[in-house]
Amino acid sequence: MDLETIQKKLEKKLKKSRYQHTLGVMYTAASLAMRHDTDIHKAMLAGLLHDCGKFCSPKEQVKLCGKLGLELTDIEKEIPPMVHAKLGACLAEKEYGVDDGDVLNAILHHTTGRPQMSMLEKIIFLADYIEPGRKMIPGLDEVRLLAFTNIDAAVSVCAKNTLDYLKNTEKNINPLTEQTYLFYQKEEDGR
Ligand code: FE
Ligand code: FE
Repeated sequence: MDLETIQKKLEKKLKKSRYQHTLGVMYTAASLAMRHDTDIHKAMLAGLLHDCGKFCSPKEQVKLCGKLGLELTDIEKEIPPMVHAKLGACLAEKEYGVDDGDVLNAILHHTTGRPQMSMLEKIIFLADYIEPGRKMIPGLDEVRLLAFTNIDAAVSVCAKNTLDYLKNTEKNINPLTEQTYLFYQKEEDGR
């Protein structure tokens, strides 16, 4: 399916603000791909579809996962944002015809990141955080700059900011976010 067809589908399925965010992520991902010598089309495709699993409530997302035979871990069930990523990767493949493993992984890991991400995975993880429509959060300017100058440092700071936010709001923390932070912090120290 081409980008335009997917865009039209998503415009109907997602609520307006989510669709706007999606376009922001798609174009930000394209810019990061230009900067980091990565396939621009893949970056746009992954950016466009990264939240395609967020077209219904978290409860309905869990139900749909069950219908599709997607198994959710206990951690994923406790942390609703994890569910849309898993569902999204599945829908990207089945409903939008994506067969590129790197694109599917970028969608699957966009909320938490993971150690040893591909460049495309890092790009989508960061584009989701820094797209122009994001409301100002502490550290956003720093991550926006680092995403274009030192992408591993950007991932580390982004994961750290997410951890701090989750701790402050007493939300459940996915261990993967912690692992992402620790891995990319080490990458930095090793320089
Ligand atoms: Fe998301
Ligand atoms: Fe998003």
